[in-house]
Amino acid sequence: MTEIGFFDYPALYRRFRQDFDQTFRDVCARGHFILGPDLETFEQELAARLGVHHAIGVADGTNAIALGLRAAGVGPGDEIIMSAHTYVATANAALLIGAVPVAVDIGRDGLISPAAAEAAVTGKTRAILATQLNGRVGDMEALSDLCRRFGLQLFEDAAQGMGARLNGRAAGTIGRFGTLSFYPAKSMGCFGDGGAVLTNDSALAERVRQARDHGRDADGTFVSQGTNCRLDNLQAAFLRIRLRNFDQDVERRRALAARYVEGLRDLDQVACPPGPDDGAHFDVYQNFEALFDRRDALQDHLAQRGIGTAIQWGGQTLDKIAALGIRHGALPETTDYFRRCLMLPMHMALTDQQVDRVISEIRAFYRGAS
Ligand SMILES: *Cc1c(COP(=O)(O)O)cnc(C)c1O
Repeated sequence: MTEIGFFDYPALYRRFRQDFDQTFRDVCARGHFILGPDLETFEQELAARLGVHHAIGVADGTNAIALGLRAAGVGPGDEIIMSAHTYVATANAALLIGAVPVAVDIGRDGLISPAAAEAAVTGKTRAILATQLNGRVGDMEALSDLCRRFGLQLFEDAAQGMGARLNGRAAGTIGRFGTLSFYPAKSMGCFGDGGAVLTNDSALAERVRQARDHGRDADGTFVSQGTNCRLDNLQAAFLRIRLRNFDQDVERRRALAARYVEGLRDLDQVACPPGPDDGAHFDVYQNFEALFDRRDALQDHLAQRGIGTAIQWGGQTLDKIAALGIRHGALPETTDYFRRCLMLPMHMALTDQQVDRVISEIRAFYRGAS
């Protein structure tokens, strides 16, 4: 029995090995490692691909959020509303600049609930930071409306949203700024850490550009306070290869997801995620996260048969991270969701046959259980 891994890291390199090797040799031979021409070109190509004025390559997706928040004028004591169902990075980025993360409940789609966000607004709320989870864009219309009514800013943590769209607009380009992560397991991962800040606001973009390089302006003068938070030129060169092939990756992810849905949707014990073309949404399935009855027993059943699955964040939604003491209200939907949610294998090395085997093992589990 062959193993079906939840993710296949070595396959990232294997897929375009010759291109990566050639690029490694070229960049290293040129000796241009920091803020080089590959980074500049990648930033232009990424911005063009997503239909946004500015894409700024930074060290990782967490610092991308922190840089964006600071450039947008968020500071100490400002409350930022976010989903409880997000990575700890979203909250840590806020904490890093002294802001106060406030975690709220999710809707049926697993993304931030606009009604829960509205209920959490106080006099100190400055922004809503929407996580575009699992390769799906949230209800940005409702959130924009809410922000307009309360005078708040709207930002996006699109670390999982690369390529996703809502009404044709790319994840990360809808709020005042949005961020991406190029962590290896993300749908456009590199060979280490990487991230980007996306914005149509030129002044905000300039502040982020300076802040990622110790406050240096285009002339090389230190004009503001900054830090070292640049995307390596070499990683940017590798990412240009991934970007060139990204459309085909998205198509494949959507086909794999459609296969899971087709194979599971008649089971009463399983609730598949919405999409892939659910109304205005264009989902890219960074993850295939579905809801399953008797989730823990199912996960064991699959593990015994060599099939890797994962509960997102190891089950630690923001309210469960005691060390951070994050403020939150009632989270009934999040709590219920986390009793049932499980991510199935979803990556570019996964074959149709492997998906079919995962489906048949899930079906066998529920047949045996009934
Ligand atoms: C991966 C991820 C991040 C952080 O990205 P890094 O590049 O690992 O810092 C932030 N938010 C979400 C929702 C993520 O999935």
